[in-house]
Amino acid sequence: MNDFDAIVVGAGIVGAGAAFALARANARVALLDAGPAAGPIGSSPGGERGTSRASFAWINATAKTDREDYHRLNARGAEHYRALARELGEARLGLHPTGMIAWANPGDEGRRQALRGQVERLREWSYPVTPLDTDALRALEPHVALSPGAEGLLAYCDAWLDVPRAVDLLCGEVRRRGGTVIAGGRGRVTGLLRDEAGALRGVEAGGGRLTAPVVVTALGPDTENLLRAWLGPGELGNRAFLARRPGLLVDTPDTGPFRLVRHVLYTGDNAFHLRPGPSGGLRIGSEDADPESEAPDDAEARALALLARARALVPGLGGDAPLETLARECTVRIGVRPVPADDRTIIGPVASVRGLYVIVTHSGVTLGPYLGRLAAEEITSGKMPGRLAPFRFDRLA
Ligand SMILES: Cc1cc2nc3c(=O)[nH]c(=O)nc-3n(C[C@H](O)[C@H](O)[C@H](O)COP(=O)(O)OP(=O)(O)OC[C@H]3O[C@@H](n4cnc5c(N)ncnc54)[C@H](O)[C@@H]3O)c2cc1C
Repeated sequence: MNDFDAIVVGAGIVGAGAAFALARANARVALLDAGPAAGPIGSSPGGERGTSRASFAWINATAKTDREDYHRLNARGAEHYRALARELGEARLGLHPTGMIAWANPGDEGRRQALRGQVERLREWSYPVTPLDTDALRALEPHVALSPGAEGLLAYCDAWLDVPRAVDLLCGEVRRRGGTVIAGGRGRVTGLLRDEAGALRGVEAGGGRLTAPVVVTALGPDTENLLRAWLGPGELGNRAFLARRPGLLVDTPDTGPFRLVRHVLYTGDNAFHLRPGPSGGLRIGSEDADPESEAPDDAEARALALLARARALVPGLGGDAPLETLARECTVRIGVRPVPADDRTIIGPVASVRGLYVIVTHSGVTLGPYLGRLAAEEITSGKMPGRLAPFRFDRLA
């Protein structure tokens, strides 16, 4: 007899979402993570490790306008949070349904046309979005220095997530439903158990063994290197299927007494972005400020440049304090995005290794709990939910 029906390895937002959905479907589930116990209520593993804790965490399908199937997957991911909030409570989940505002500055004709095209495409696909003129932009974001003639859009179903809180709650719910959550050394998986036919039978973790007919990996950016280390040569094919892309984020201290920024904001060039954080500060990032390396030696200089851009946009940020003083009070994080080779989600069993189910994706905050629900449906019923067909592992192997 197996110890469990399924073992989930990795308790970021993707693995926590999958374990929650499996427990909710009455599966006997174990969720393992190598990070120490952490989180606001101390029930989630992961600690400071993992991409989910260093994410901008914008929940959206607004930016996904290239392919309709991927857009719809993300739109359902966003919608699924509303269902979770109804079930578990919005505040407990750490869901902040603020909406997102993007805009083009006057004179930036290319960006203006791109935004108009984005509104048209999103409306065609029934994703709720509305155009904004300068007066409307100013009414919605009174502390932001907007140029006269700016024109933008409001995606009012977008949100942001306090990810540590959400992961913590989902782990607590797994336990409450009879599941097992193991953090730290005992949760560190070091290998996979196989039978004579090569099918997975469970995992080796923290010196012990746990058995289950299905192992779900939700290892974020470590997915490819760990699976290749645990499996035989060539079992996953020889092509790299996952890139690691670092991103830098700056968290400011509380900007009170006013909420200087109320929505998720994407500015003029669509690279610079900021949003409120859970304790009253701002979280700031910009794709053009991202480092090449996962441990850059110029992180502080990059953070200072980001803060300067943020203050130009939100003049009240940090009051009269010199920028360097504000910078000293900020937290700088480097997260590593797991980016599948064709930029789209990987979810499903691996045909060459029976019992192995892989979930890895960029936009994992938007998608994690929803992908977890679809994975649980597939694992417990044995049938693939139709909308997962374009996102199987085997397309890249
Ligand atoms: C700068 C930045 C900005 C981003 N912005 C957004 C955004 O706005 N919206 C969005 O939707 N997404 C965004 N993303 C992407 C998103 O954050 C990721 O897709 C998501 O967090 C991946 O979650 P995960 O659970 O798959 O991986 P992770 O959170 O990395 O979790 C993997 C877990 O596996 C554990 N682990 C590793 N090795 C072992 C082992 N041997 N045994 C047991 N456990 C192990 C780790 O401790 C970790 O907790 C962003 C990412 C970055 C870096």
